[in-house]
Amino acid sequence: METNDRKKRIRFLRRLILFAVGAAVMIPVMLCVIFAVRYDRAMDALDKSREELTWYKNHYDARETWEAALTAAAAQAVEQQALTDAPESGMGNAASGDSPDMQTGETETEEWDGIRRVYLTFDDGPSTSTGEILDILAEYGVPATFFVIGRTDKRYENEYNRIVSEGHTLAMHSFSHRYSAVYESLDSFQTDLHKLQNFLYDTTGVWCKLYRFPGGSSNTASQADMNELTAYLDRENIRYFDWNVDAGDASGSMSAWQITDNVIRGIGNYHRSVVLMHDASDKGSTVEALPTIIEAVRAMEDTEFEAITDDTEELHHLVGEG
Ligand SMILES: [Zn+2]
Repeated sequence: METNDRKKRIRFLRRLILFAVGAAVMIPVMLCVIFAVRYDRAMDALDKSREELTWYKNHYDARETWEAALTAAAAQAVEQQALTDAPESGMGNAASGDSPDMQTGETETEEWDGIRRVYLTFDDGPSTSTGEILDILAEYGVPATFFVIGRTDKRYENEYNRIVSEGHTLAMHSFSHRYSAVYESLDSFQTDLHKLQNFLYDTTGVWCKLYRFPGGSSNTASQADMNELTAYLDRENIRYFDWNVDAGDASGSMSAWQITDNVIRGIGNYHRSVVLMHDASDKGSTVEALPTIIEAVRAMEDTEFEAITDDTEELHHLVGEG
């Protein structure tokens, strides 16, 4: 009996030792796994926070620079106005430099009333971004100008009509936006132009008389003589607008704060800013930047948003047109 009891006890002890050894191995392993997962989560959260911090820091830095740039530009403008009563010009452009002669169209001969006018213009729409852009503009009560192309897809009918019904200006930017077709000759230009003009009239009831050349009037892609094309628009009683402030969002890789920075710095240089932006499905950064741009511009006391109308003084890159 005694040996039996002993055997039982030994078996029990052996199990106990095995269990203790097992636990001694398993518990640290489990703890390691748990801590590894937690560590991973914490690192993810840290990365995200770091990213956000960088965004805010860039944003904050940019804001300081804008404020300085605007104060300087405003002081210079006032000084210039007081001293010479001359038009503001030649102050350089801080926006992207892909239009070297952006200033050439600036002919501000009349006296400046002290209000900086900002014309937000959106090219290439309608797109899947148009709705969001319109929502933001409506929220802030800001009028803008849409240089649209011809999209016959039924789902865009609503966008064309919203642009009109919400008080923005519907303007033309070629039907096809294919340089090879639009700029092949004066003939192809005319065909494309009237196709869009009629299409927009059929869709919205608006007879558009404003135009923006794809790539601007200073584009080098046109096979037709640009002076001939501008002369044709003139005969057709259609006025065209280029831009003097470039959001730089055409490349598609610009961040929202870079776009905001380009626009705000650019606006500081002119009494009248025609701001080039894009309305396209892949331009999420532009949509993201829009509220900040509006708020930053609103924060300047002497600025006003306007839509381009038939009465707005034109702004051209191309000079010497017939
Ligand atoms: Zn375009």
